[in-house]
Amino acid sequence: MAHISGAYITSAFLENTLVAIKRGVELANLPPEFFEALTRPQRILVVNIPVKMDNGKIQFFEGYRVQHCDVLGPFKGGVRFHPEVTLADDVALAMLMTLKNSLAGLPYGGAKGAVRVDPKKLSQRELEALARGYARAIAPLIGDVVDIPAPDVGTNAQIMAWMVDEYSKIAGRNTPAVFTSKPPELWGNPVREYSTGYGVAVATRETAKKLWGRLEGKTVAVQGIGNVGRWAAYWLGKMGAKVVAVSDINGVAYKKEGLDVELIYQNRTVPGPSLVELFVSKTGAEHIKDPEAVFAVETDILVPAAIENVIRGDNVGRVRARLVVEGANGPTTPEAEKMLYERGVVVVPDILANAGGVVMSYLEWVENLQWYIWDEEETRRRLETIMINNVSKVYARWEKEKEWTMRDAAIVTALERIYKAMKLRGWI
Ligand code: NAD
Repeated sequence: MAHISGAYITSAFLENTLVAIKRGVELANLPPEFFEALTRPQRILVVNIPVKMDNGKIQFFEGYRVQHCDVLGPFKGGVRFHPEVTLADDVALAMLMTLKNSLAGLPYGGAKGAVRVDPKKLSQRELEALARGYARAIAPLIGDVVDIPAPDVGTNAQIMAWMVDEYSKIAGRNTPAVFTSKPPELWGNPVREYSTGYGVAVATRETAKKLWGRLEGKTVAVQGIGNVGRWAAYWLGKMGAKVVAVSDINGVAYKKEGLDVELIYQNRTVPGPSLVELFVSKTGAEHIKDPEAVFAVETDILVPAAIENVIRGDNVGRVRARLVVEGANGPTTPEAEKMLYERGVVVVPDILANAGGVVMSYLEWVENLQWYIWDEEETRRRLETIMINNVSKVYARWEKEKEWTMRDAAIVTALERIYKAMKLRGWI
């Protein structure tokens, strides 16, 4: 349970998150009061946002902003619009941001925001009113060097544009650095569109180099060809890997000789048939109807980039790859990870592999604070350097502790930095 001034809140997700943090604290031999400090978010704001709906009636939406820990710098974390999100889940997500930002070496603490809403059920006008209402409601607690939100599930660059506009009106000046992942026309950066997938590809390449000396020629299967998966597949193909399978909720496109990843780039802005259908109809890839068959494909590398809990105890036996790189958040259950570990399969954990998005947010923030613009290539080079360093850091820690998983090494690395900062600042 998280400690929130005597009012204990909990959820399965929060409990699992705390179990993982506790294990990390123990593996790193850090004191129990450090664990306790991490169970106590520094500040929680609960807001109720009135929106005049298209039918003329007022509807209230409950929202949160959890500022978990700012020992390493301003709070940073996305805003989720989802009908089932709870305050307890938001606390867990904020805790994970503290770890992810620490591991990535960014000067940020962790936070997360959420609104209980199904954005697909709102009109554009209602969505804009809600986005602006949420920005106004949390405005007293955020700021470009205080707390910098970004998109998460159910939110996007357009929503960030409305929020940054609303906040700027309150501040009485343009404040681009208070939200990240904005459209390129409004102080964003074009790299953001593919930053998470690109980061996954770089993390895969660097790990493959360490394990096998090279990525070139290695075969890859990608589960979930959405934002993260498609760009991971594209960049892995550009880096010399052979992408043999990609999947979505309806099935798998498989081609032993390798799929032509240029099709992904050519269809980057075209709404229409899914990429799986395009690979089948345009490149003669085989269509396998069972979406889980993507695990059974004979490959060196598997990138789960769809949703959480997809590699479980009951299906882990199907996984053929020797390296699993987590593009999605939480795709491997602890039970499955243990079984993979016993089989010698390496799992690059989500907080390392999919950090490209938040690293890009950091780069955009630095640009905005200076009113300076890097071109796409320069930005990508900076993102790549940070991802390479992060993989090296975790891999070096992992090599010293061979009985650990790579996830253990990542969590311990993240926790040690937070702990040292708390000690230096005299917080514990
Ligand atoms: P998305 O909605 O763009 O794509 C998800 C894809 O997964 C879709 O193609 C969907 O068809 C597919 N899918 C869903 N369930 C599936 C299943 N059971 N089997 C096969 N395919 C399935 O989402 P996204 O933004 O790419 O995010 C994917 C994951 O990455 C999530 O876990 C998200 O939290 C995580 N993530 C995203 C970002 C980002 O920048 N978008 C950053 C960090 C982490």
